[in-house]
Amino acid sequence: MATQTTKELYDLGEAPPLGQVPQKMHAQLIRPDRFGEPTKAFQREVIDTPQPGPDDVLVYVMAAGVNYNNVWAALGSPVDVIGARQKAGEAEDFHIGGSDASGIVYAVGENVTNVKVGDEVVVHCGTWDVHSPYVKAGNDPMFDPSYRIWGYETNWGSFAQFTKVQAHQTMPKAEHMTWEEAAAPTLVGATAYRMLFGWPPHTVNEGDVVLVWGGAGGLGSMAIQLASDAGARVVAVISNDSKVDFCKGLGAVGCINRKEFDHWGRLPDWDDMEATAKFTQGARAFGRAIWDILGERVSPRIVFEHPGQDTVPTSQFICDTGGMVVICAGTTGYNADVDLRYLWMRQKRLQGSHFANDQQSYAFNELVRQQKIDPCLSRTFSFDETAECHQMMYENRHPDGNMAILVGAKETGSKAFTAG
Ligand code: NAP
Repeated sequence: MATQTTKELYDLGEAPPLGQVPQKMHAQLIRPDRFGEPTKAFQREVIDTPQPGPDDVLVYVMAAGVNYNNVWAALGSPVDVIGARQKAGEAEDFHIGGSDASGIVYAVGENVTNVKVGDEVVVHCGTWDVHSPYVKAGNDPMFDPSYRIWGYETNWGSFAQFTKVQAHQTMPKAEHMTWEEAAAPTLVGATAYRMLFGWPPHTVNEGDVVLVWGGAGGLGSMAIQLASDAGARVVAVISNDSKVDFCKGLGAVGCINRKEFDHWGRLPDWDDMEATAKFTQGARAFGRAIWDILGERVSPRIVFEHPGQDTVPTSQFICDTGGMVVICAGTTGYNADVDLRYLWMRQKRLQGSHFANDQQSYAFNELVRQQKIDPCLSRTFSFDETAECHQMMYENRHPDGNMAILVGAKETGSKAFTAG
């Protein structure tokens, strides 16, 4: 139980005394009757501050990171996250999103030993039943049926003055970073880390060719840095030549503008020779563009996928024999066709991947703390612009890299914290 402040509610940016928690807080809420485009769905409201359970930590949020998952939450599709939680027995008829945060520990549950009140932390978004026998036996908790993404599948995310997280989600904040920089990269970075290093034997090796879709996006900007730091030759895909310098600056050896091709989308019927030939022509030309960048006929050993339906047929086609297409999303659609002839004859792997476990998240955070990863923070928004930055993302008109929102931090550029 957290110690309660005498004052019921604090303004944004007005920190309560350290270790004391007000009864109420400001939060950006999505409600089912507002499901739709982000500008319709998100609204600021005042609600009760959550209480940490025995294994939980209550974090005073300084800044929150922006991710695509709360575009999905706003839309109420493909999953109605509020309805799903109510079905599972939770009472709340609202969703507080936000799956990345930097902030200060304000209260800890009775079982918590890894952090204490006053610690400066960032939060990874993997949650699971910490008492599950499968997890306690040392298995990967991302395979446990209890795993959920905090601030998307679970409530009480970081678009609020306080967020409730499991203690193992907290990690030391990189001291060299401002609050908003620290809040930006963890979800996409740890996801990319598992995709690139979590599926042996297809882990990134020195000299490997890695193709990264959406190289200037959240996931892509992290994947380029992680793969090139491991010695890979990264080719990034973009939709506008203005993104070339950004991707090369992160370590890509070259970029392909996908707008120069028009073979995207689902595969035609395999017995439609004419349409199949047209697809094959497009996919071959795309593969040649990779070879042109590399200066030799070497195909990607790892293809870093997330657009999904529009691009998987091409990813599968251009992936090297014995290589892996690793995928964590289907932004353009979920029915991604695979020409099985290439899958089996060339012995390729199509691997699903989803966020990350503690070890992978901590490993990514260490690279951030060692200044090997740039958070690629493009723009910082005010708390009341939470809907706007998600709307930009929904319309794919957001700036390169990652975005963040100030919550408790009063201004950008600050690493300081003063309790009330
Ligand atoms: P993002 O910052 O919006 O980047 C996505 C990139 O995809 C865009 O920059 C865009 O780059 C590219 N793109 C858009 N439409 C495309 C198309 N038709 N064909 C090819 N590329 C296209 O989003 P993000 O944060 O990287 O997330 C991407 C997806 O992954 C989202 O659906 C998100 O929910 C999901 N995700 C899943 C996990 C997980 O754990 N499962 C974790 C993080 C994210 P160009 O227009 O320049 O090509």
